[in-house]
Amino acid sequence: MIRAGMNVARINLSHGEPEAHRQRIEEVRKAAEAVGRPVPVLMDLPGPKIRVGHLDEPILLTPGQTVRLAPEGGHSQGEIPTTYRFLAQDLREGDRVLLDDGVLEMVCIRADGDRAEMEVTHGGLLRSQKGINLPGVKVREGSLTPRDLKNLEFALEMEAEFIGLSFVRGAQDVTDLKSRISGRARVVSKIEKAEALEAIHEILEVTDAVMVARGDLGVELPFEEVPLAQKRIIQLANRYGRGVITATQMLESMIEGSRPTRAEASDVANAILDGTGAVMLSGETAVGNHPLKSVEALVRIAREIDDSGALADGPRYLPIEDLPEKSGASLKEHAVASASVEAVRTLRASAIIALTRSGFTAQLLASYRPTVPIIAVCTEALVYRQLWGVWGVQPFLADSDEVTYDQLLKVARNATISTGVGEPGESVVVTAGSPFHTAGSTNTMRVERL
Ligand code: PGA
Ligand code: MN
Repeated sequence: MIRAGMNVARINLSHGEPEAHRQRIEEVRKAAEAVGRPVPVLMDLPGPKIRVGHLDEPILLTPGQTVRLAPEGGHSQGEIPTTYRFLAQDLREGDRVLLDDGVLEMVCIRADGDRAEMEVTHGGLLRSQKGINLPGVKVREGSLTPRDLKNLEFALEMEAEFIGLSFVRGAQDVTDLKSRISGRARVVSKIEKAEALEAIHEILEVTDAVMVARGDLGVELPFEEVPLAQKRIIQLANRYGRGVITATQMLESMIEGSRPTRAEASDVANAILDGTGAVMLSGETAVGNHPLKSVEALVRIAREIDDSGALADGPRYLPIEDLPEKSGASLKEHAVASASVEAVRTLRASAIIALTRSGFTAQLLASYRPTVPIIAVCTEALVYRQLWGVWGVQPFLADSDEVTYDQLLKVARNATISTGVGEPGESVVVTAGSPFHTAGSTNTMRVERL
């Protein structure tokens, strides 16, 4: 899969045991080494993801039937266990509870103590461990549950390059997580609740990247609202200079079949045309019959769009009401980044070179979706590994005491030529901060010759 083009491996901590995850991550790193390029790992914390507890047997639910939800462990025969102990306390009469990605639905009749009496409105077979969504219900549990804190420790121990946070509700959730990580990983905020969409500007201000988490988002919101939400999240993420991943059901039918449906091929292509920085597979590669073919299909679709020139002038965004001023970076940084991307187009330069300490300049440049590779030269191993997960970036690691413009440019020149991105004599556009070792100081654009 790495040879076929997989850039990042996601480990979803909603499922499985730490020991098995440890082995998987070690496998990924070994394989990456064999292929010869780092593959960063994204570890997703489940957040307050609520699930049905363990059921010995699936339960058949029929419309009109009354059932009782109870906290797992304290439940008795005939009640449906859930993993969220405050469920009944948070539910009000008339609130909807969706189960199994919204396939099953029930409405609260009465909540009493830790039990909630529910009427089934959409029936079907309820299986063990299925997800529960509570659209519009204010959930009192923080977005970092005690289980997440354990998982976070594990993720940091495994040196995950990215940590995903599920069911983010606002900026506070992200800053809480970031303060615990203190720079050891980048944070991907999963946008999968209506509350997160409402707070999208505040979240983008503080997060490193977002995920358009269409699976849960399409249950929390009416599904017909997901396509425009996707476009909006992508456009805003790029506006703030943040990474953006479009996720879930991209090639869903390939869990079974060996070819994508035409609708899936269109969906992947359209996400890229929307301006997404990454497309993600889940079940297709986690439990599907054709993991490699799924990656190959994704890459074929992405290549087709890249080669078509359709994005030569960047993504074409829809008009948006509350489009902010350039944010997420200083105006100076935005000015340098957009001028660099523009200069590449005018000069037909072969690369943009980013001399970057924190990697942020490279991410910001990427958000403008230049037509040529971003050769990013950095001096920190973690930044180097993370940049392998950023759209359009080819990272290089320079010796940590090479910090003058000339030293770093030399590394970049060699890298650009040795990778075949540019040839001697061609122009390149270089962005850098001076002095180099202060982050957030990108203030220079120069045109150089290879
Ligand atoms: P998940 O997140 O796969 O962790 O649920 C993505 C989504 O909800 O789409
Ligand atoms: Mn989700």
